[in-house]
Amino acid sequence: MTPLLPPAVIGVFGSGQLGRMLGLAARSMGYGFHTFSPHADSPAGQVADREVVAAYADVDAVRDFIRHVDVVTFEFENVPAFVAEVAHSQGVPVRPGGHVLHTAQNRLREKRFLAENGLPIAPFRAVTSRDELQEAVQELGLPALLKTAAFGYDGKGQILLRSSEEIQPAWEALGAETAILETFVDFAAEISVVAARGEKGDFVNYGVIENVHRHHILDISIAPARTPLRIAAQAADLAQSVLEKLDVIGVLCVEYFVTKSGRVLINEIAPRPHNSGHLTIDAAVNSQFDQQVRSVCGLPLGCTDYLRPAVMANLLGDLWAEGEPNWAAALAVPGVKLHLYGKQEARPGRKMGHLTATADSIDEALDAVIRARNAL
Ligand code: AMP
Repeated sequence: MTPLLPPAVIGVFGSGQLGRMLGLAARSMGYGFHTFSPHADSPAGQVADREVVAAYADVDAVRDFIRHVDVVTFEFENVPAFVAEVAHSQGVPVRPGGHVLHTAQNRLREKRFLAENGLPIAPFRAVTSRDELQEAVQELGLPALLKTAAFGYDGKGQILLRSSEEIQPAWEALGAETAILETFVDFAAEISVVAARGEKGDFVNYGVIENVHRHHILDISIAPARTPLRIAAQAADLAQSVLEKLDVIGVLCVEYFVTKSGRVLINEIAPRPHNSGHLTIDAAVNSQFDQQVRSVCGLPLGCTDYLRPAVMANLLGDLWAEGEPNWAAALAVPGVKLHLYGKQEARPGRKMGHLTATADSIDEALDAVIRARNAL
């Protein structure tokens, strides 16, 4: 396809912070930006030229939305796959394609795709009943994690099984028809690689980003990661294999566990920019959102070099427990930048924004971002 040049319109399904940051990148390059989701006054809608508020299943609204855009992308995996078919029938490119969405929106399909392509993952079993769960526990042993196959993110729909007495209550509590049981990985570190692939197969990545989670939600990301070179190279190679084998045009993030014996296992994939890549906005020549614009519009991919070491800290709704946080105090720390997503309601665990600190070294950036967040 010939590149879609500004002022072409990028249409995104989903309207959260990933859509907002995509919209800001798109607008800075002179593109139009439309967003579609069931929510009004959304983080992405606030920066969009047009915010369509309708159910994802509303075929007429989807058709009308696509009629007004030049390319369709996603900021959220759990959009019905028919959206891609509608776009296709209207001659509007969908990037990444519907097949990517289909694979990534279900853990079981995703794990099977990874396993079938010989990519390293923790052992898992598909389970559709309590008896199958019992069998899977016998085969894999404990501890293990029971995860719903559909609609899981940030540790939602996950139960840790430590003893066989927990099997029955866990199956009932999960309340899912299809789930996976996965061996618990006693990892030494969690890392990710954010990568982009163009329509001619060109590929770029940001190297390894080091991630620290709290209560299954990303808390801190560090780049470049303090990971041995061999592990970093292996993770980047695996990311390239994932984007190639899935035939992704767009941005995709691969999350990994590094085991204590130095093995790199893929935990999950997200076919879009990722929370761990937010620091690229302030620390890299092109952000992950710039790459999303470039890749979905058929432009050359951009330079991913880091200008400075960076650390990102998420700001969850819990910080609002005693009213609006003291932003001025955080911004008094040198090297710190504030990103807020414009969400109306601060619920515990909800991602409301993030801070990024850049500095001459990782240690200084880490110190700055923690001091800034503590000052809130
Ligand atoms: P997920 O939604 O699958 O990415 O899980 C969120 C977080 O839960 C991960 O980043 C890990 O910190 C933890 N987690 C998920 N799966 C496993 C596993 N098999 N072993 C150990 N920790 C896990």
